Amino acid sequence: MTIDLRSDTLTRPTEAMRHAMAVAEVGDDVYGEDPTVRALEERVADLLGHEAALFCATGSLANLLGVAQLVRPGEELLCDARAHVVRAELGAHGALAGITTRTWPTGDGRVDPATVMALAEPDAGPYLVSTAAIAVENTHNFASGVVQPYDSLVELSRQAREAGLGLHLDGARLWNAHVASGTSLADHGRLFDTVNVCFSKGLGAPVGSVLAASAERIAAARTLRKRLGAGWRQAGVLAAAAHHALDHHIARLADDHAAARAFATAVQERAPEAVDPADIETNIVVLDTGTVPAARVADESDRAGVRVSALGGSVLRAVTHLDVTVDQAAHAGRVVGAALAGPGQG
Ligand SMILES: *Cc1c(COP(=O)(O)O)cnc(C)c1O
Repeated sequence: MTIDLRSDTLTRPTEAMRHAMAVAEVGDDVYGEDPTVRALEERVADLLGHEAALFCATGSLANLLGVAQLVRPGEELLCDARAHVVRAELGAHGALAGITTRTWPTGDGRVDPATVMALAEPDAGPYLVSTAAIAVENTHNFASGVVQPYDSLVELSRQAREAGLGLHLDGARLWNAHVASGTSLADHGRLFDTVNVCFSKGLGAPVGSVLAASAERIAAARTLRKRLGAGWRQAGVLAAAAHHALDHHIARLADDHAAARAFATAVQERAPEAVDPADIETNIVVLDTGTVPAARVADESDRAGVRVSALGGSVLRAVTHLDVTVDQAAHAGRVVGAALAGPGQG
């Protein structure tokens, strides 16, 4: 059997989740008449400490709709250089909303308020691009799933508000940050003007993300969603999966975090330079393959029944999730570690 750690999007809905979807009460959501979608939007708005929310097909869409409420065409969004919004959304913010971005390297992925605020030019006048908002990713996908230190977020939020800047949270894995840190979802949510959370990652739903914000911003985001052709009808079958995930799949993320540490520990025993398990806070392990091409390690692991993603020349990523046990993750770590260490060393 293949152990697939390429992403936590690979999970398939459980029997219980499929049942919840099958019996969902539905209506036409473009008419605002799907009760399961409406209940999900209210539930997630509440959880995140916001007034309103909008259920969307993808996190990329929720990010775009959120950022577009904070940044006008020709203005700028600041985000770190490895943020999903600039690396993995195919230029949507520029191509579809006229937003420019400026980035800085965070190193370990953690946002430092002083660094960001030094870059920001809130009112740059007629010659320079004005900064309108800052985006933060929590947990940080390409930075090995690090949890943003809460005190830094509080400080960034305070300074951004003082400077009149918007603040967007790409919380695709905010659930993981919440479980790892113990800080409530609402305590995270209220620091930001717009928040995206995904159901199709660790929570194990087949489809879906929610954008939370003020009622006014959500109304505008709903209009823009329709304009982009992303209004949907009986989406309650999908919202039902998200409800089920909220009921049953949040606390168990701690198991994914334990599995990621088990994977990293097994890798480190064979390839000590690739990763330090002490750095692994959530469900993502980014490995540095050094002089060994990441693609070669991924291929070799694949032949031994373990799939991981080569994200660059020397960067490999493994993500634990609902469909992988701690023991399987440890086994996968031994396989990848052996591939990394080279022939005869595994
Ligand atoms: C997965 C992900 C998203 C959204 O991705 P979609 O595939 O569009 O749902 C956004 N941000 C981060 C950090 C992600 O990992």
